[in-house]
Amino acid sequence: MLAKEAISLERTAPRYTSYPTAPHFGPEVDESTYASWLNDLSRSDPVSFYLHVPFCEKMCLYCGCNTKATRRVEPIELYAERLIGEINLVAENTVCRKLVHLHWGGGTPSILGSDRLREIVAQLATRYDLSALKEHAIELDPRHVTKALADALVDIGVTRASLGVQDLSDHVQQIIGRVQPFTMVRRAVDILREVGIDQINIDLMYGLPKQSEQDVQRTAILAHELKPQRLAVFGYAHVPWFKPHQRRLNEAMLPGSAERFAQAKAARETLTSLGYEPVGLDHYAKPANSLAIAARGRKLRRNFQGYTTDDADASLGLGTSAIGRLRQGFVQNPPDTGSYSRAIMAGGLATIKGRALSADDHMRGRIIEKLMCNLSCNIDQVADDCGHRCVSFEQEIKMLLPFVTNGFAHIDGHHIAVTESGRPYLRLIAAAFDSYAPNSRAHHSIAV
Ligand code: SF4
Repeated sequence: MLAKEAISLERTAPRYTSYPTAPHFGPEVDESTYASWLNDLSRSDPVSFYLHVPFCEKMCLYCGCNTKATRRVEPIELYAERLIGEINLVAENTVCRKLVHLHWGGGTPSILGSDRLREIVAQLATRYDLSALKEHAIELDPRHVTKALADALVDIGVTRASLGVQDLSDHVQQIIGRVQPFTMVRRAVDILREVGIDQINIDLMYGLPKQSEQDVQRTAILAHELKPQRLAVFGYAHVPWFKPHQRRLNEAMLPGSAERFAQAKAARETLTSLGYEPVGLDHYAKPANSLAIAARGRKLRRNFQGYTTDDADASLGLGTSAIGRLRQGFVQNPPDTGSYSRAIMAGGLATIKGRALSADDHMRGRIIEKLMCNLSCNIDQVADDCGHRCVSFEQEIKMLLPFVTNGFAHIDGHHIAVTESGRPYLRLIAAAFDSYAPNSRAHHSIAV
């Protein structure tokens, strides 16, 4: 019998929204690589778009997104023009026209204003067939949801809104610099539902400064009162070396790893007791929601927006820092708006780095995605499907043994199944198959 080895709650690992992960992208993939990959798409290939808007009115101190604060209209107006420019440039490099998923993220996408949102979608409609759209989602800040905005969202065809709520306790909201009382969040949801946007996601967080298990529990219960179809509960990632504004949060106020673990558990137990099904690492969905159905049917996917039902092979990112995924690999735009704008104004695609996938990357990426989405994977089957015969995963299996002895996973031959108690350790379990991890110089957040 194997000895039980405790698994540290301090271990870090990527979130695996891609494999290889973004720190392993390099300049060998450039504008011309992206153009040739786009060119390989056929007319009938389904494609999805992610549009990034890197502006907010004010920075929240916990923010980990690529965004900056502005109250000026000019940079936002110019940025909207660049997005339109990029839509045209991408369309000129590919014959593929079937848009199946559209997702706006940021930043605060609604900062573009109703007219610009309408203009950008109108431009998309001149270049792409939007009749096949299965979903049109947008991330919203409850503090900025108005009737006029909601009307514009209906006009452009938004079907799902994702509201950033994080925590509903006043003391936490004050510390993190984002004050939005429950009544304000409820009003935002009501406005959206009144105009017919019924699909509501709510994003919550644990691990915030001065946040307690009771705060997390209470927030989950209040969020449930809003009847969202889905919730996501993310662990706050304190990465001040990467996001310097987080230095304004006093580290002494952050919950320790055992407390974080207890908070995540409290959220999970509260939401499951309220009728939500856990999906992947950190999502929850009503049983009838498409995300829960996809999870049960093993059709869930993972991309840069998190868990998704979007199964398009080509997921193209538009805007500053946006990442695109094509069959051949990943491409990324510059992280700063100045470089992005200059590239688009010069008439070229804005790609500055990426990663062409090797056969090994394809195979490991599929194993990691299956583990993150399905909590199980037949690694021999994936290796076979990817044309790799007789791959030995001896080292990886060895790395998983502590998870087996702790009851977090079962290994039967080459079939791995993560148990319900192993769900919080998914990132660490997936990391066993990450061949870049041992040499990685990237700083990741705490995995649990
Ligand atoms: S509104 Fe969202 S994107 Fe903007 S600073 Fe706050 S957390 Fe970051």
